[in-house]
Amino acid sequence: MDLPEFAIEARGLTKTYAATKTTPEMKALKGIDLAVPRGSIFGLLGPNGAGKSTFINILAGLCRKTSGTVKIWGRDIDERPRDARAAIGVVPQEIAADPFFTPRESLDVAAGMYAVPASERRTDELLSALGLADKANAYVRQLSGGMKRRLMVAKAMVHNPPVLILDEPTAGVDVELRRQLWAYVLELNRRGVTIVLTTHYLEEAQELCDEIAIVSRGQVVACEPTTTLLRRMDTRHVLVTPEEPVTAAPTLPGFETKLIKAGGFSVGYRTGQSSVEQVLAAIRAAGLHIKDISTEDPDLEDVFVSLTSEAT
Ligand code: ADP
Repeated sequence: MDLPEFAIEARGLTKTYAATKTTPEMKALKGIDLAVPRGSIFGLLGPNGAGKSTFINILAGLCRKTSGTVKIWGRDIDERPRDARAAIGVVPQEIAADPFFTPRESLDVAAGMYAVPASERRTDELLSALGLADKANAYVRQLSGGMKRRLMVAKAMVHNPPVLILDEPTAGVDVELRRQLWAYVLELNRRGVTIVLTTHYLEEAQELCDEIAIVSRGQVVACEPTTTLLRRMDTRHVLVTPEEPVTAAPTLPGFETKLIKAGGFSVGYRTGQSSVEQVLAAIRAAGLHIKDISTEDPDLEDVFVSLTSEAT
């Protein structure tokens, strides 16, 4: 079988929630074009209300699109809805675990829903991969929050889908569990599973994702390899510690300055327009003596703020 070039492909996707008695009509997606390369870890970033959950719910078959096309693993969700859904596992934002099932039973029920034959079930493998082997027969209500979340990941993988979608997977998960979860996600990716994740942790997306789409108000405002996205941001900052601590950021003609902690200040400059050399000359010209300097690379937070404000 030919493998698709894109794990997920959306073209001109729109979603309008109809008006209700109390709320006006809401255009949640206004023409999304997105192609998630097969084998990638793809980040979907955007502020609250951007449309990320709506997009994921359409993929999961939980919400009907208004127009446009969506293919999952090359399968059109209108033409082959069951095949399309069989190709993805979705880990929802909310923990929805049945308190009366054990993790083992929970996985069996999930496998049953996907009609996975008993001989092909990987219950033990999944339980141990997610560190739940010793809790296999405990009641779900006896599990910690982190364990429940890992169980959600296991449930999303029972039918061995080639694409795994994680909606805000680490919200409220402590650092140690987050690491464990990512270790497993990376392992799945190494085995060829395409991963799509939404996150508010920009740092996490920056670290994990090969490619990132930024969604704002129902539109994709950027979709690029992570490194390209970072390069787009050409504002750099020089952090200056002067010999004499300052109480206000100095005025330097042509540069933006800001007071930072312990009597230092930062100077922003555009790499295309000026150099560190010119920044230093301006500081000296203002009569300040430099004790120490360092530079700061832009991170996704900066890119994010600049792109979403451009879109307004
Ligand atoms: P995100 O996941 O990025 O926070 P959502 O997809 O949840 O964004 O929401 C996008 C927009 O659609 C928001 O303005 C939200 O209020 C609205 N919305 C989401 N679900 C519904 C719904 N079921 N009915 C009406 N409006 C909705």
